[in-house]
Amino acid sequence: MPSRPQAQRRLSTASTPIRRSGRKLTTTERGYGWAWQKLRLLVLADEPLCRICREQGRITAAEEVDHIDGNAHNNDRENLRPLCRPCHLARTARDQAFSKHQFRPEWLKPSTIPLVIVCGAPASGKSTWVRSNSKVEDLIIDLDVIGSGLSGQTLHGWDKSKWLGPAIRARNEMLGDIGRSTDHWPRAWLIVSEPKAENRQWWWDKVQPERIVVLETLPDICMRRVRDDRARPQEPTREAIGKWWSEYERRPGDEIIRGE
Ligand SMILES: [Zn+2]
Repeated sequence: MPSRPQAQRRLSTASTPIRRSGRKLTTTERGYGWAWQKLRLLVLADEPLCRICREQGRITAAEEVDHIDGNAHNNDRENLRPLCRPCHLARTARDQAFSKHQFRPEWLKPSTIPLVIVCGAPASGKSTWVRSNSKVEDLIIDLDVIGSGLSGQTLHGWDKSKWLGPAIRARNEMLGDIGRSTDHWPRAWLIVSEPKAENRQWWWDKVQPERIVVLETLPDICMRRVRDDRARPQEPTREAIGKWWSEYERRPGDEIIRGE
């Protein structure tokens, strides 16, 4: 959901996946701290009407504050817009349908060539692992490589708010290619973060890879790598690592690699 910063949880070891309880999280657990509540009230006082309704000629009181770019950590005033509840719900539903659709397209076919799916947190070493295990003639499908290629920006610093849609479409075309009979490549490698077991199961059923490999590189090691690589956006990557580990669950059949 766009306006909810992820609750951060830390793990001391890699081998204890955290299960989500069925219980609803409190606003503080969801990351709605006091600072956000205060900012939210300031925005609503500054702009009391729902912006989408206003643009469509309706006068409706705003009740919620939405992150326009979908990044819950970007609290710049120009990224915040007040919305009424129905507009906010409609926007959230559309975003989720978009991303689910695009990230895991239902139309994918089983791969016609041997495929290895490599999963792990940001900075867990997925690309490096694939590079050292693949051959030059293999196809490597990596959203970061595609996004940086399309945007002309760095591998980890490309502007996702602008280029994520086109990059995912290009990635999906490549996945479409290996679902048709092809002799272009002897083998394909797909890099996706996918911390949730159910989502890796989705890929397993859908594209029928030969193997799914998960790099269980400990969060401390990922964090250190991020710190040593100034080309990476520091805070968002650290948050993404925490989020990955808070969502991670093992799936029977996955091949676990202790990243170093
Ligand atoms: Zn509205």
